[in-house]
Amino acid sequence: MDYLPVFADIRGKLCLVVGGGEVAKRKSGVLLEAGARVRVVAPHIEPALAEKQGIETVVARFAPQHLDGVMLAIAATNDHAVNQEVSAHAHALNIPVNVVDSPELCSFIMPSILDRSPLMVAFSTGGASPVLARLLRGKLETLIPHGYGRLAGFAARFRETIKARIADPAQRRIFWENVLDGVVAEKVLAGDEASAEAMLQGLLANQDAQPGGEVYLVGAGPGDPDLLTFRALRLMQKADVVVYDNLVSKPVLEMTRRDASRIYVGKKRDDHTMPQEQINELLVRLAQQGKRVLRLKGGDPFIFGRGGEEIETLAAHGILFQVVPGITAASGVSSYAGIPLTHRDHAQSCVFVTGHLKDGSMNLDWDLLARPNQTVVVYMGLRGLETLCAQLIAHGLPASTPIAIVQQGTTQNQRVVTGTLTTLPASAELASLQAPTLIIVGGVVTLREKLAWFHPTPSAQPSR
Ligand code: SAH
Repeated sequence: MDYLPVFADIRGKLCLVVGGGEVAKRKSGVLLEAGARVRVVAPHIEPALAEKQGIETVVARFAPQHLDGVMLAIAATNDHAVNQEVSAHAHALNIPVNVVDSPELCSFIMPSILDRSPLMVAFSTGGASPVLARLLRGKLETLIPHGYGRLAGFAARFRETIKARIADPAQRRIFWENVLDGVVAEKVLAGDEASAEAMLQGLLANQDAQPGGEVYLVGAGPGDPDLLTFRALRLMQKADVVVYDNLVSKPVLEMTRRDASRIYVGKKRDDHTMPQEQINELLVRLAQQGKRVLRLKGGDPFIFGRGGEEIETLAAHGILFQVVPGITAASGVSSYAGIPLTHRDHAQSCVFVTGHLKDGSMNLDWDLLARPNQTVVVYMGLRGLETLCAQLIAHGLPASTPIAIVQQGTTQNQRVVTGTLTTLPASAELASLQAPTLIIVGGVVTLREKLAWFHPTPSAQPSR
């Protein structure tokens, strides 16, 4: 270990920053955030720095007396001689000193920081590669939820109470582990501290009780795992059981916890592996067994996903749950196909409908759909494509209206077929498209040609 990491309390203390430019401004900013008073010394100090609140400016070249009363010093000038001087004087006075980009002149170095106050993560490559530290920071940003600071604050609030109530340190540790990795923590992270507190009190009153299960209703997006949210990923790695259906792509499923059991509940068109009521009951049963259940659904759970029905049953049984939104097919698939859903020249509104056939017919409000300057996105519409096009024409859309159908958007198998209301049904038939497919109707479809060079490409991944 080349350095000893410490967290210094500099609240209300005087710190010196030598330098008046961008770097000095950044360093002063960190010191101010940690509550210090900052003295900035330089012959020229940029106004943006001088005007910061809590800063005392000294417009002069550095001189040793500027170190009077200082707790720590940072040299951030582009003049090596000045930096050396600051370092030498600070060393002589035993004042910790940092010289930006010159580890040999430093008595301490500044780590990269991930701030989830009061939780702080600080790390350093010991000067080996600041860029590497920055990359690592990016990774940690995605791993450590933003609400972790709140969670730490919550834990702090109850620390004394729990210490008084649970005398045995080992038991107390187990209690905290259950709290910080279970439903209570999830409530805090979701911003509901009142419920979290009630649960914590419940656990405290009944410490021997098994912690109950919970259900995470998570939107898995349209297929490309890069489109998952951080929260989805976190819960995917936490769940004990995964209940998923046909729309969830293989690469997404592979990102769930390795040792979680997986239950496939099907739903291809006409092949309903498990009726919805049974899925609802399954979720309740698993949660009642104390499991953390991940109900993984394609796209967004609340958009043609029957997520509402699932949580109704959970609520009726008093099961805890949380819902994590996902990128819905309309949004993900249209982006990857290069079709903006709205555009000032083409569409001021956008409607999502399901083209699912009921008794062979499509029961939609055609007058609403056949309006100019509007994009219509049809989920589950492949089988009804011909009816859809005929009805839109019959209700007033020009036969030349552009339309696209996208197969397995955002995955490696993405294919896009475009045409007009007259030509598309035949071209789609010829293309023998594979489900799932999404239909987009409206002038925006023509933009695809223009934007062809800029489509995001589905990331390298095994196919569905
Ligand atoms: N909850 C989902 C939609 C479920 S309905 C969501 O928000 O996206 C199922 C329909 O979604 C499919 O029939 C298809 O129309 C559409 N769909 C979902 N993923 C798709 C994909 N990757 N490519 C094309 N269409 C998709």
